Parts: sequence; structure tokens; C-alpha cells
Amino acid sequence: MSFKSLGLSDAFVKAVEEKGYTKPSPIQEKAIPHILEGKDVLASAQTGTGKTAGFTLPVLQYLSETKHQKYRPIRALVLTPTRELAAQVHDNVREYSKYVNIKSAVVFGGVKAASQIATLKRGVDILVATPGRLLDLHDQKAVSFKRIDVFILDEADRMLDMGFVRDINKIISYMPAKRQNLMFSATFSKEIKKLASGILRNPVEVET
Ligand code: AMP
Repeated sequence: MSFKSLGLSDAFVKAVEEKGYTKPSPIQEKAIPHILEGKDVLASAQTGTGKTAGFTLPVLQYLSETKHQKYRPIRALVLTPTRELAAQVHDNVREYSKYVNIKSAVVFGGVKAASQIATLKRGVDILVATPGRLLDLHDQKAVSFKRIDVFILDEADRMLDMGFVRDINKIISYMPAKRQNLMFSATFSKEIKKLASGILRNPVEVET
């Protein structure tokens, strides 16, 4: 199996080859075709399995396939439980999007909001964020969720452990009902399944 045979275009195949990846990991092989088809996906995946590329590559491809208007509304949102993970996912987004015209940004707490607000103002196609800071920025009207097409919840089990469920549901309430949802979790407790059933529509379940 190759990245190309999963449906990824040359710009992304080239970017992953430059990273030194020779073939897709199991989670990538299973998830990427469904994500490219626009389906909701519920995936069990630990860190280290290549899950980040598994959702980032197909979402970036989707974003790169549409013509850009002058102002770019956020069309894809990745929520992560921690700043470190947000920064890491954003680094991946930047690396994988090096050959396409995509604008990305990351926002998290613990740093001043001013530069994040300035970045958001310039237009962003894909935003990576932690829930608390994102809601703060939303309250300040620095960010809108009205044009989101794809919502990705990364490390959902850690989100639950850290008490982010209310924040997540609040963020979701501001998004259009019609959207693609992707959810990744290392474990599947009752609570995770409950969260998943409230977010995902007929998800394809992917296990590694
Ligand atoms: P993740 O599970 O997303 O945290 O990824 C773990 C690590 O695997 C990261 O350092 C990636 O750069 C790397 N990686 C992702 N996909 C592949 C692949 N297909 N082949 C080799 N390494 C990969």
C-alpha cells in the first residue's frame, strides 16, 4: 500500500516522502480513504501510531481542493487537550501542507492572546486549538465557527480526564450541524462512547 493508492495527491505524497515515510502506517491505511470520502470516523489510536498524519493529510487535501475566497474562514478545527499536543499537531500541519496553499494557526492558553488574535484576523483555513483559549477567543469575537466543515477531536480520552466535555460541547454548539467529524481516542470507556454518539454521525470505526 502506498500513500498515493490511498487517494492522496502528489503534493502530499511528496511532503510525506520528504519526511522519510516509506509507507502508510496501519491507522493511516484504514482511516485516510474514509476521511477523503467525507465520512465521520471514530478511531482508536495511541500516540506514536501516526494518527496525526492520518487525519491531517486527508483534511488538508480536502481544504486544498476548494478555491480560496479573499477572506478565509476557518473550515477545519482540531481540538487537542494540551498546548504541547496542539503545537505538535500544528507543526505536522505545516510540514504536510508545504506544497499547497493552506493557512494554518495554533492557539492555546498560557501565552498572550494578542498575536493569536492578529493571526486569526488574517484568515486561517485550519486551526489547531485547546478548548479553554479557543472559547475565550470566541467570547472576544476573534474567531467564528460558522464555516467549519471538518471537526477533529484528538485524544478524546484525555479531554474527558481533563474536564473539557462542557467546553467541547459549547464549541460544537457554535458550528454548523452539517459537517464531518473525526474523533481519536486511545481508550473507549462508556463516557467516550457517549461523547462520540453526541458528535459523530454514522461513523466508520477504525481500530489499530
Ligand atoms: P503520531 O502518532 O501522530 O504522534 O506520530 C508518531 C510519529 O510517527 C511522528 O513522529 C510522525 O512523524 C511519524 N510518522 C507518521 N506517519 C508515519 C509513517 N507512515 N511512516 C513513518 N513514520 C511516520
